Amino acid sequence: CGIVAYVGQKPAHEVIIKGLKRLEYRGYDSAGIALMNGGLNIYKKKGRVNELENYLKDKNLDSTIGIGHTRWATHGEPNDVNAHPHYSYSKNLAIIHNGIIENYSALRQELINKGHTFLSETDSEVFIHFIEDIQINNDCTLEEAVRLALTKVVGAYAIVIMSKDNPDMLIAARKGSPLVIGVGKNEFFLASDATPIVEYTNEVVYLNDLEIAVIDNNELNIRTIQDIPMTPYIHTLDMEL
Ligand code: GLU
Repeated sequence: CGIVAYVGQKPAHEVIIKGLKRLEYRGYDSAGIALMNGGLNIYKKKGRVNELENYLKDKNLDSTIGIGHTRWATHGEPNDVNAHPHYSYSKNLAIIHNGIIENYSALRQELINKGHTFLSETDSEVFIHFIEDIQINNDCTLEEAVRLALTKVVGAYAIVIMSKDNPDMLIAARKGSPLVIGVGKNEFFLASDATPIVEYTNEVVYLNDLEIAVIDNNELNIRTIQDIPMTPYIHTLDMEL
């Protein structure tokens, strides 16, 4: 029900945990984070962000890129396994997703028939396996695979994806669920609303429905799911802290 992601120079987990706490008002039943700390690693827990924070205490969280999520369960009970981020193991992709994929059940069966195995009961895990499957079958970039997947999924989403093979890249997209991009100095923030972002920057880009944002090598590019390039429009927020 809430999304925060970061890429830049700061310790990513600090920005993300703080941001998730700012989104707590949206309500949730579990929380999780993925970091690039010597591999693409995922930490997730049923319960409040505090519980995730306690779980992270003895971990080495050295990463300047990461994605975090608070979940409001729609498919599968609230537990550690169904919490986000979700992972796909052939291309090593992690996803956070707010929303509902309506045709997930048919997609899930199709993917199981192709040999995919699922750990959770969520529509979101199906989403990332679907993207991975498209990337493998089309032998294309992750960005192109996301784009093709979005032309086929039915439902609502705000997503952010991380990839082990592209350690400086975040890919985000939305339809129906909100997503704001904060543009800092050599850093980017992504969140469900601006509250996790305003303490770092007042420059934001509101991603529109059916747009895909790729942040890579400190550059933001936006294209529609029809593959039309868009010029990001930067709004300056009135800062009231
Ligand atoms: N449908 C997803 C799930 O049940 C995402 C729910 C959310 O928006 O938090 O895991």
